Amino acid sequence: MSKTVEMICISCPMGCKMAIETITNGVTRYKVSGNKCPRGEQYGVKEMTNPTRMVTSTVKMKNGHLNRLPVRTSDAIPKYKISECMAVLKAVEVEGPVKVGDVIINNLLGLEIDIIATRSM
Ligand code: SF4
Repeated sequence: MSKTVEMICISCPMGCKMAIETITNGVTRYKVSGNKCPRGEQYGVKEMTNPTRMVTSTVKMKNGHLNRLPVRTSDAIPKYKISECMAVLKAVEVEGPVKVGDVIINNLLGLEIDIIATRSM
């Protein structure tokens, strides 16, 4: 049995249009086509098995010149954890001064990924 999903590779600006065929006959395998380099195959298989995304957002800032501090995850997190991540960020309030790269939340949701500041304030 097989099923094909189409997607665009976002690993570089080329944006290759790919087809990922899931082949199930006892063992599940993925056949990627349309990619112009091996990174596309890696991306396609990862999207089918464990899709992840970098998260960029803002958190409340107590005594900065702006009332929101821009932040991002230190690495990509599983897609299914994004709404939980946003709920955590919504509840955070940071007190300055903050330097770009400072860890705002250590080990977010036990994922061994931090939330870091992307601006000094
Ligand atoms: S398959 Fe390779 S060339 Fe195509 S978008 Fe992905 S990374 Fe870029």
